[in-house]
Amino acid sequence: MPLQQLTGEAAVAAQVSTCKRDGGSGQQRDDDPVDDLPVDLERVDQDLELVKKAVAVHLPEQWPSGQHCRNDHGQWPCRLYRWGHEVLWHAGRREPDIAELVRRAECGDLRWS
Ligand SMILES: [Zn+2]
Repeated sequence: MPLQQLTGEAAVAAQVSTCKRDGGSGQQRDDDPVDDLPVDLERVDQDLELVKKAVAVHLPEQWPSGQHCRNDHGQWPCRLYRWGHEVLWHAGRREPDIAELVRRAECGDLRWS
């Protein structure tokens, strides 16, 4: 089954294909540094809404082959999720805060404008 059809986001996924590494060959490492997207500490507060949105939409989905990003279908945690997580961490958010953010987004409490 073509997995893109599950979400209808194939076009979006193509546009953000830079989020994928090595064609998704499964080389994700836990210690993979967030070296490809900058974390600008001066702008953490300004970027916070964007970052929250990134984290809220780049959520894991359980597939037979493992966890994949719902948004870009790469191995999860994908690059954007890890970037968002990193920025939130620098902004003083911790796991319970991030979990709450995700929960609220799932419930539709958050409005992205
Ligand atoms: Zn993603």
